[in-house]
Amino acid sequence: ACSFYCPVGAISEHSAVRRTLDVLENKNGKIVVFQTAPATRVAISEEFGMEPGDISTGRMVAAIRKLGADVVFDTNFSADLTIMEEGSELLDRVANGGTLPMFTSCCPGWINMVEKLYPEFIPNLSSCRSPQGMLSSIIKNHWAEKMGRKPEDVIVVSVMPCTAKKDEARREELKTESGIPETDIVLTTRELGRLIKLKKIPFLSLEESEYNNPLGESTGAAVIFGNTGGVMEAALRTAYEIALEKPMPTLNYTPVRGFQGIKEATIPFGEIDLKVAVVHQASNIREYLKKLKNGEVEHHFVEFMICKGGCIGGGGEPKSLTSDYLERRMKGIYNIDERKTTRKSHENQAVQQIYEQFFEKPLSHKSHKLLHTHYTNRSKKN
Ligand code: SF4
Repeated sequence: ACSFYCPVGAISEHSAVRRTLDVLENKNGKIVVFQTAPATRVAISEEFGMEPGDISTGRMVAAIRKLGADVVFDTNFSADLTIMEEGSELLDRVANGGTLPMFTSCCPGWINMVEKLYPEFIPNLSSCRSPQGMLSSIIKNHWAEKMGRKPEDVIVVSVMPCTAKKDEARREELKTESGIPETDIVLTTRELGRLIKLKKIPFLSLEESEYNNPLGESTGAAVIFGNTGGVMEAALRTAYEIALEKPMPTLNYTPVRGFQGIKEATIPFGEIDLKVAVVHQASNIREYLKKLKNGEVEHHFVEFMICKGGCIGGGGEPKSLTSDYLERRMKGIYNIDERKTTRKSHENQAVQQIYEQFFEKPLSHKSHKLLHTHYTNRSKKN
């Protein structure tokens, strides 16, 4: 009712927009750090009359700075980190007889589905946190200390294509040792657009701005997380090279691209043929899991995303009136990847550095503590 009567839906007490305005206007000595997900940069443009798929990375960062953020980091950094951890977890499971197929874990909508409807598959889920979960954890538990501050002194606002990420941010497992959430506020891409309009920031005429470093550095492999098949393709680029000590024959691994509901591929992987699948949208996921239970399919690694097309089709993205908006956003994402000089997660120098200086190696004790998580059977039967 509030949004019905209020001319600007943002002025609702509990909305993320209101809370973000509050933290930006009343910092009380705290540092406000933003992070932006891969799929936001090809969709925010539509809030300002541009076309779906138009790339607005630099303008989006500039607008966030104009809003008053102190630091802007990129969730793409932790997407690269996810690949390091998840790729290593896959190789470990394959080599040591772990639970297979391993399922990706970056989509909280999918995690909710497993915990509530398919708890028997919890052991198949990768223990990796989502990129949002990883980056917020690093910001509060590691970066804050490096800045000489306490986790409580930092407010993390993440901009996501996704409404389920708001729910993820409230999970008990994703709180600091002192019990505060690692992600304070989740704004959808649409809500960020609303905030920029509320503050009358001239988005289209902004001069582009760069992310802050080191947690703003990323590769082409990270941005493709926004598309269905992207996590899989990024993981293959790295896992293949680490396991076989040579690059994949092609970086653009097309069998996992596109809108087909269930995509399957087999990659010659040294002594084994690595069988992978990519599934998006709930109806296809149900179909796939039914087949898996009946023994009709067999894979080592499966990517799941709840939204059509992956995060580019997320519930928090702008509502488009164009019929081919998903295709165009998908193309925008692949264009960013093609233009990057580094396109493999393990070549991200800031990621290499954080392993050298802090995490030591993927799946280390520190990685497990800050970058991994666990899941709970939340089905009614339980
Ligand atoms: Fe969120 Fe949809 Fe992306 Fe899943 S696929 S993380 S629900 S936007």
